[in-house]
Amino acid sequence: MRHERTVIIKDSRLRKLRDGLRGLYVDHFFPVNFNVTDESEEILKNNSKIFIGSICNCPSCNSINRDMIYNKHEGKWYCLDCYYSIKARNTNPADWSLSRKEIRIFLRVLASPEGCQYNGHEWRCGGKEFTYASRALDLMEISKDTQEEFLVFCRAFGGHCDCEILMNAAPFLLGEEPSY
Ligand SMILES: [Zn+2]
Ligand SMILES: [Zn+2]
Repeated sequence: MRHERTVIIKDSRLRKLRDGLRGLYVDHFFPVNFNVTDESEEILKNNSKIFIGSICNCPSCNSINRDMIYNKHEGKWYCLDCYYSIKARNTNPADWSLSRKEIRIFLRVLASPEGCQYNGHEWRCGGKEFTYASRALDLMEISKDTQEEFLVFCRAFGGHCDCEILMNAAPFLLGEEPSY
């Protein structure tokens, strides 16, 4: 799983630039007003074939402003969220970036007083920055690349912040009800 081609841009100005260029590409390929002729329809059809699944467009959610990853089996690019949610649903949990055992430890640390203090009277959440999830993974000495990959899996199962990992994603990640 670690050897897939991923293009992630973190700098917000570069993201804007990239998304702007993709927008230009869309405008060029799919002009809003053009005269419908047999020929132009044929061109549009061809453009769709080129565009959909290219690095500019996710064929699953249609977004043009996401970081992308290449699915070599299909020969198409997908956004990370779609790619991993499709993959998570089709992958044997034994092949995930963290082992079952590591996931169990991770969830326990995340739920503990070090993390979200789940079930404590003052529980907390680091939001979509995944402050406590990242801290737990750091404690476990999981590399940043693997963390990134694992958190996309968490999102794929409805864990869009620290506490949602515990509430939504945990049973899917574990394959059973969590015990914290
Ligand atoms: Zn997508
Ligand atoms: Zn939360």
